[in-house]
Amino acid sequence: MATKRDYYEILGVGKSASRDEIKKKYRELALQFHPDRNKDAGAEEKFKEISEAYAVLSDDEKRTTYDQYGHAGFDQRYSQEDIFRGANFEDIFREFGFNFGGSGFGGGGDFDSILGSFFGQQMRGRRGRGGRSRAEIGNDLRYDMEIPLEEAASGVSKKIEIAHQISCDECKGKGAAPGSKVLTCSACGGSGQQQVVKRMGPMQFATITTCSRCNGNGIQFEKVCSSCRGSGKKRGTSKISVDIPSGVHDGSSLRLSGQGDSGRDGAGDLYVVIHVSEDERFERNGDDLYLEVPITFTQASLGDEIDVPTISGAHAKLSIPPGTQSHTVFKMRGQGMPRLNNYGKGDQLVRVIIETPKSLSDEQKEALRKHFGAPAKEQSRKEKKFGFF
Ligand SMILES: [Zn+2]
Ligand SMILES: [Zn+2]
Repeated sequence: MATKRDYYEILGVGKSASRDEIKKKYRELALQFHPDRNKDAGAEEKFKEISEAYAVLSDDEKRTTYDQYGHAGFDQRYSQEDIFRGANFEDIFREFGFNFGGSGFGGGGDFDSILGSFFGQQMRGRRGRGGRSRAEIGNDLRYDMEIPLEEAASGVSKKIEIAHQISCDECKGKGAAPGSKVLTCSACGGSGQQQVVKRMGPMQFATITTCSRCNGNGIQFEKVCSSCRGSGKKRGTSKISVDIPSGVHDGSSLRLSGQGDSGRDGAGDLYVVIHVSEDERFERNGDDLYLEVPITFTQASLGDEIDVPTISGAHAKLSIPPGTQSHTVFKMRGQGMPRLNNYGKGDQLVRVIIETPKSLSDEQKEALRKHFGAPAKEQSRKEKKFGFF
């Protein structure tokens, strides 16, 4: 598309022109280029150009935006439809005695370039426009599944049952009754398209949409399948096996191609979203696992070799060196989660917690006092007693 000309330049007014000046200028130009009057090649284009300029400059808010950002910034904020929305052309054209909507615009090949992004998105959908080439693919579906951490570590195969649109087996998804003749669609004459005319201000825009009767196929059947009433689809359930890879992360989704809803030209996909439930023992951080293990005061003091659980289910040995402090973290390499799509595993990090004995015999208490000294509180009590005597 050619670079847009400046709106002020198009109307031939200065940047500080008043609303009245702008209106007066537009009236003059519209009179000159209105296609009801001017049949020259290019007049229609010119008329569109001045009308757009007027629609923007006659609206204070749009004019300010245009002044501030120019075409580039303006077009980001306003669609072609927005530009004409609210613009008042009626009073101008009523003066002329023109039928301001009926000048027969649109329908031509240039319509797309005028409308650019605006009708395009809505009308074309995701499959592009244009009659028979339009494919009808079924919807994508989502299925949420929760698995325990152990299964995320080992990988697992699950059978699920999903309710979705399946292809009608009577008509093999075609929608036609057996032996039915294929006819040209009576609504669109086989083009698969319908023209919808929309009016904005002084202009008419014709949009081409997909024929609603034949869905853009351009055909209809003499007799439709009685089982699916011509849709080619039915509600049904399917059992699907889902292979969950080891090391899968919480929230990741697996795409099962072609397992979504059926459509005439193919099925959509099924997305299985995996939720890994929280584990009571292991806390996951990426591919590493954290685990807290209690040890006794004696084990911490003298050192020991202890059994710790791992996510694989097997127990592993961890050696505690003498003099270990509580909350020390030991790393067990390669005992964490398998790395997804990769070799190896993360680590297991074991935090040891020293458990203090809850009940001691008098003998044990005495031994502790003897070896580690009595608590300060007991000592001061003793001193007090002593002083009293
Ligand atoms: Zn059918
Ligand atoms: Zn049709």
